[in-house]
Amino acid sequence: MLRGSLEGDDLDRYVEQAVMTTTLDRAVAWAQGNSIYPLTFGLACCAIEMMSIVAARLDIARFGFEAFRASPRQADLIILSGRVSMKMAPVIRRIYDQMLEPKFAISMGACCSSMGVFNNYALVPSDKFMPIDVHVPGCPPRPEALAHGILKLRDKVQGTDREGWRERYGAVGTEEILGA
Ligand code: SF4
Repeated sequence: MLRGSLEGDDLDRYVEQAVMTTTLDRAVAWAQGNSIYPLTFGLACCAIEMMSIVAARLDIARFGFEAFRASPRQADLIILSGRVSMKMAPVIRRIYDQMLEPKFAISMGACCSSMGVFNNYALVPSDKFMPIDVHVPGCPPRPEALAHGILKLRDKVQGTDREGWRERYGAVGTEEILGA
């Protein structure tokens, strides 16, 4: 090509097919969205559905999400899979605070998002004590629904909205400013 074997329209076509340009930010977002490390963490029956997303049928390894980490310091996604009791909420919040930025949270199932069928004084919805990026409805949500939520999260990560949760929720320190 450099010796003149391609010229004019042929050269334009070759360059369009062979060369890709992008920005560093978009390349980083692409890599980040395809290499999310979820935390090994389950709360209730929804967790059983969550476990199956790494098995052969759905195999979220296809999207770079399969490496569940045992420490919050090595994870950037927490999936709240099940109902959250008042007692458990501060524990979850502490685990979330121990994760490094940028970090994300999926609320899985009706219990976690709205207290679901166990709507009583002992439970608390996840939005009340931490920022949630994606809600996956259902009781339990099928593994396909969780996979859909994960792909929604990937879209968010790869889109323009890439700030940490403090910017997204107008937070100061470790406190969200609700309604900001
Ligand atoms: S939403 Fe349904 S499956 Fe999930 S924790 Fe609640 S009762 Fe269990």
